[in-house]
Amino acid sequence: MTAEVIDGKAFAADVRARVAALVAKLKEEQGITPGLAVVLVGEDPASQVYVRSKGKQTVEVGMESFEHRLPADTDEATLLDLIAELNADARVHGILVQLPLPPHLNADLVINAIDPAKDVDGFHISNVGLLATGQKAMVPCTPLGCLMLLRDRLGSLSGRNAVVIGRSNIVGKPMAQLLLRDSATVTIAHSRTRDLPDVVRKAEIVVAAVGRPEMVTGDWIGPGATVIDVGINRIERDGKTVLVGDVHYESAARVAGAITPVPGGVGPMTIACLLANTLTACSRANGLPEPEGLTA
Ligand code: NDP
Repeated sequence: MTAEVIDGKAFAADVRARVAALVAKLKEEQGITPGLAVVLVGEDPASQVYVRSKGKQTVEVGMESFEHRLPADTDEATLLDLIAELNADARVHGILVQLPLPPHLNADLVINAIDPAKDVDGFHISNVGLLATGQKAMVPCTPLGCLMLLRDRLGSLSGRNAVVIGRSNIVGKPMAQLLLRDSATVTIAHSRTRDLPDVVRKAEIVVAAVGRPEMVTGDWIGPGATVIDVGINRIERDGKTVLVGDVHYESAARVAGAITPVPGGVGPMTIACLLANTLTACSRANGLPEPEGLTA
């Protein structure tokens, strides 16, 4: 068997096009422009690339982008003042504080200062609780992107056997919550899981969010399974730096029914879902219907 390639790049472009069409409609019919504020503290090179990319894509879908770049030695009070300002600003529907923050800043405190209704990353403790209790929440972008890809490929996830490898607050746990919400039977695996290959082999859905290059090999995958590889790992190969996932693509693709590549799988979905979340936040703030197909 050769797996079908799940083209996350094309799917993300489609999500952005749907967001752009709904943004245009919002402007025309309601006179409302969704706005996303991104806060970057310090000069971390990877974070700068992400923030630039987020700003560019926000503008491309017709939303307003507010970028706040603060020096690395910014104190907590200054950052919290900025967040309070953004919470109160009616033009801003989504607020994202780029992580990681410099070590002298308490990330939990800062994230929990964001108005939960504007917390488009879905990391605020209220959104975590709302998701866990099956209530309307802002959902973390990467797991939301994985969910969209799975629903598109499989239709209903009800009753399906899913394994999520990784239990981080950013990917693994919310991913498991979302699958559970769609009535999948969910196993969460982690570094202490016994017989991991055996656990993974039983799953129809495998989501790998580990951060270990090519750990999941083809002999771990059940025939026909759908494999979502969240991992982004830079490794040296043949004298070049290359990007690989947590799944060994070649061997897994020989067994799986469908698989996301790295790059070009889950990666592009994250920003697309950030834009979808901003539109959702804007719709909710204005008492309008949720954007169809763009929420959990
Ligand atoms: P974390 O490091 O926070 O979590 C990794 C998880 O993997 C932990 O729960 C850990 O278990 C588990 N783990 C580690 N080693 C093993 C092992 N040998 N066997 C089984 N489980 C193991 O990572 P993140 O969740 O933040 O990220 C995971 C990956 O996804 C990374 O490659 C990251 O770059 C990528 N990522 C990609 C995004 C995208 O946009 N596509 C967005 C976010 C992340 P334990 O808890 O027991 O330590």
